[in-house]
Amino acid sequence: MYKYLREDVKKLKPYQVNEIKYKIKLDANEGIDWMDGLNKYPDDTCKSLREKLGERLNRKPSEILIGNGSSELIGYIMNAYLEIGETVLSIWPTFSMYEIYTIINKGKYRKFPLKDMVDLDVTAFIDLAKESKAKLVIISNPNNPTGTVISMEDIRRIISSLDAMVILDEAYIEFSDLPIEDYTREFENLIVLRTFSKAMALAGIRLGYMIAHENTIDCVNRIRSPYNVNTLTQDVGIKALDKHEEIDKNIEMVKSERERIRSYMESKGYRPLPSQGNFLFFKGTKDLGSKLANKGVLIRGFGGELEGYYRLTIGTVEENNGFIKGFEEVLNETEQSY
Ligand code: PMP
Repeated sequence: MYKYLREDVKKLKPYQVNEIKYKIKLDANEGIDWMDGLNKYPDDTCKSLREKLGERLNRKPSEILIGNGSSELIGYIMNAYLEIGETVLSIWPTFSMYEIYTIINKGKYRKFPLKDMVDLDVTAFIDLAKESKAKLVIISNPNNPTGTVISMEDIRRIISSLDAMVILDEAYIEFSDLPIEDYTREFENLIVLRTFSKAMALAGIRLGYMIAHENTIDCVNRIRSPYNVNTLTQDVGIKALDKHEEIDKNIEMVKSERERIRSYMESKGYRPLPSQGNFLFFKGTKDLGSKLANKGVLIRGFGGELEGYYRLTIGTVEENNGFIKGFEEVLNETEQSY
């Protein structure tokens, strides 16, 4: 949406790459090929990948922007829209990079706590967004690290009530029961972010994308770094989009493992939150993380107000069994030490 665009970015034109057909290409100071044509800069606008994704999503390529991971796109969106001192509102707890990107962009970050780390009081959230004149509202749905979800009905209420850009970060949507449908044609102030890092299990290639009205894509594209997505990543991304079956099988496996590990944790007296991501979030003892790490099992611990909370990623059956084994040992050792 042009309305919310930073004033100085309104005058900015995106970096233009020559797209004229050629026989001999001597316009970009590229070196001489010695490895698989990688001497050439990548396709700047990721044309083929956007076309393929567009077919999958039933969107025009002009409604999609590709990033070096969805993290890069979060930064770009703030670059494009946030003036110094303007407010970014999110829920708490959530993905820590939202606050970091806000600070980098000299914005003011406000957090609205989820009730018992699960439920969102939508009316109060909307009130705070209005009161703080939030320019950007960013929501991870399902939410990292809690795994909890906000219903699409509530999300729609937030988008339609606010005079702000709403960024819906759907990094984990494939693991959830939420509809994989975006409402970017209905709401011009909505940006949907997705990634290849989670359900597609390709975090190593760094690939994410945003879906939005084409005016919004134009806005964010103005501040995008040239050639932000490398050639190898674009190629793998395109190939991956044809591998539905393997990916769907993995998602189903993760979902059923998530429930198995949840039952196990509950049988041990722990209470993981109702997660719809590929992870479980729970409260443990302060030293659980370090004790597990001593056994070679890494889970994510948190500090500050989340001290004692942990996020466990759901892996393969073998990896999860490895976690259970390590966890059992830690529990037994703790009992013996009393
Ligand atoms: N959004 C959320 C909610 C995340 O948890 C993550 C990764 N932890 C990202 C975005 C970033 O993903 P990527 O940059 O790998 O696409």
